This record gives sequence, structure tokens and C-alpha cells, in this order.
Amino acid sequence: MTISEMKEVLDEYPADSLLEVGMPDVKFYARGSQLEALCPFHGDHKLGNFGYSLAKDCWRCFVCGKSGSGPYSLIMAHRNWSFAETVRYLYDRRSSCVGRITEAPPATLLQKSKKVRLVTPKPSPILVNDEFVFDPSPTAEDKSTVYSCFAAASPLSPSWTKHLQEIRGVSPLEIPYFFRFPSSKDEEFMSRFRKELEKRGAGNLYHRLLGIPGFFWNIKENRISFIGYSGALGILNHDEQGLVSSIEMRLPDSAVRSTRYIPFSSEGICLNHPDDYKYGANVGSVVDVVTPPFDNSSIQGVAVTEGKFKALHLSRMEFLALNIRGVGNWRSVLPVLENLENKGVNTSRVFIAFDADSRRNPAVAENSANFGKALLDEGYEVYYLTWPNNCGKGVDDVVNAGQRGKIRTVEGNRFLQTTLLPFIERAKKKKLAEAAGA
Ligand SMILES: [Zn+2]
Repeated sequence: MTISEMKEVLDEYPADSLLEVGMPDVKFYARGSQLEALCPFHGDHKLGNFGYSLAKDCWRCFVCGKSGSGPYSLIMAHRNWSFAETVRYLYDRRSSCVGRITEAPPATLLQKSKKVRLVTPKPSPILVNDEFVFDPSPTAEDKSTVYSCFAAASPLSPSWTKHLQEIRGVSPLEIPYFFRFPSSKDEEFMSRFRKELEKRGAGNLYHRLLGIPGFFWNIKENRISFIGYSGALGILNHDEQGLVSSIEMRLPDSAVRSTRYIPFSSEGICLNHPDDYKYGANVGSVVDVVTPPFDNSSIQGVAVTEGKFKALHLSRMEFLALNIRGVGNWRSVLPVLENLENKGVNTSRVFIAFDADSRRNPAVAENSANFGKALLDEGYEVYYLTWPNNCGKGVDDVVNAGQRGKIRTVEGNRFLQTTLLPFIERAKKKKLAEAAGA
């Protein structure tokens, strides 16, 4: 019997039966008129990249680009066989080619990749000075209560409130995000802070401040203290549950510092001054979730930016806004998107709204591009918000300047191909040329 005669016989069998027999090591699932599998040609971890269309009798991977038509070409490519070898193999096993692929994809393969979390044993609390407790892993609820009371004990002055509303475009509803950062030497503040805790029935938390980022033990003065910058604007950050998860400080314009925003985190000061301070805690990377001032169900998507004021503006533009501390922290956004999705928030569309200089600073552009690519890879619809450089640096500057109409939404892949990637390429060439010239 010739190969083409064998093929004529095999052509009577459905493609999924031939694939199942020809590729027993690849698990196919049925989804509509399509078969899906983890791509056999690249290290694939979730379904959706690789598919075989039973309607069109062709297959393709959208990640590695491999494609072909008909079941034979797929088996040939997978097993590195000739056409004749493939047909003969299938013909000899044609009695097995009876089953159809009907199994639906399991939820685990459809879900976005879950990070493996290493479980470390919970460290035990330490008694400090017979009265205080250093608990290295405080609960999210306790942290939220402490930070809320901390802010409530030091509200903004009326003139500062007016300034935020007039210059920064902060709405009255948003004022509670802000407070006047207190001094740790202010004893009146400490007593107001304790009263706020007591008002919430959490007076005992005063003795458990150690372990909460920002607070530490002052060894020489034998007292609780916290880091701070006198005259800074205190800002409350929230997590996806709506709990206050951290505090950041915006330094006054008079402060001579390379960075304007400082996290309320006390590990560094204790590492730098081990004889003076101990029992500090690190805040880690923070994603501040700023929900719109209305029902979450009408949002147009999730927007990611840097800085509270920008996030507030975006939240008023019908986005659920995520404020990250530095473009380089984009990786911490991915688990937050998953948590929001699990809470029922529509996270399918993600808008990247970094400052205009992300198109002029190679390092920022690279992070912005990698973030977009990672989101696309996870199956999100990605868009970049962009505006002419002369309209302002951040999205808040643009809106405050009355130029909101100049903000454009560009489809992620298009912005990557036409703007970010060419710019990164040019910057690399320039750097190489400079290195060669030097
Ligand atoms: Zn592939």
C-alpha cells in the first residue's frame, strides 16, 4: 500500500483522533471548535497560546509563532518525522483513532499563573522592656488600625487642606487620605494617637507597634519611636481589601533630597544605627489601590501610575488606579490584579499611565515596555495613556493644566512597536556608539 493510499484511509478520521494517537504526550482540551494544549514547541504554562482549529484544520502558537495546516504537519513538527513516517505510524494505529477530544480545560490551566509562595515559619513575638511586644508579622487589620489612628491624630491644617484642593485638585472626599506628618518627639501627638487607638477599642495595639513598618525602638531613650520628616505630607495607602497597608511621606518642596516620596519604613534606620535603634520593619514594595469615588462596576479598567495625586486623578476618570513607588516595581502589580479579579473587579483592561519622560528615559522606557509585555503575556488587554510632552509630565499635571482632552489611549502592542521598542533600540545603539567613542 502506498503512502497516499494510507493517507486516503486516514483522512476519514477526525483530526482530533489522529492528534490524540499521534501525540500521546501532549494533552489536548476542547474549547468550542478549537483544541487547546500547552504549546509543545516552547515552555508554555497556560492554555490560550497554542490552538488547533478543527473548523479551519490549522494550528498555531501565538507566542513562538509555529504554525501549520492539518494534523500531519503538527505531528511531523512535534516528533521530527517525515510525512511518510507520520502516515505509516498513524495507519498502523488507525484502530485506536476512534476517540474524540471532549475534555474541557481545567480551571488551573486557564487561571493566570499563580506564584509559588514559600511558606516561612511565623517568627515569634519578642517582649521588649517588659511592656512592649515586637511582633515581626502583624496582621493586616492591626496595621490598618494603627495607621488610620496615626493619621487621625494629626489632621491637616485648614490652610493645607485648601492648598491641596486648589493647587493639587484634590476633592473634599479625598482629603482623608492625607495628614500632617507628626514628629516622634511630639508628646501631645503620642497621647492623641493613643486616644485614637482606644476610641477604636484597640488601645492594646500601642504596646504592639514594634513590627509595624515605620515604628522602632529607641535604645538610648528607652521608648517607642517612628521615622519621619518634619513638615512632610503624610499619605495613606490602601490594599485591595480597602485596608490601610502603608504610609508614605511627600517631602516639602524645601527639602533637599533626591526623592520626593519616602516610605514609612523602619528597617533601614535600625540596620544603619544598630547601637541606637532596633526592632524596625521593612514595608516592602507597595501597590496602593485607589478606588473610584463610585461603584467599581462601571470602571473602564485598571490604570497603573506612580504617585497618589496621579492615581486620584485617574480614579476620577473612571479607573481603578494602582499607585506604585517607581516604574521598576511593576512586577508587584501582577498579584494585585489577580486579587482584584478574585474580588470580582473587572481587570481585563489595564492602562499604563507613567510620566511623559517614560518615552525619553531609556531605563523607564524599558520598565514600561517590560510591564506591558508581561501584561499582554498574562492575557490582559493593554493600553498606554500618552499626551504631548508640552502638556505636562504626569497625568495630574495634564489634567490640572486643563489639557485632559490631549490624553490619548494607544493600544499596547502598537505603542510598544511604534514608540517604546524603537526608542529603547535607538538608546542602546547610542550607548554602544558612545562606549566605542570613549
Ligand atoms: Zn509556542
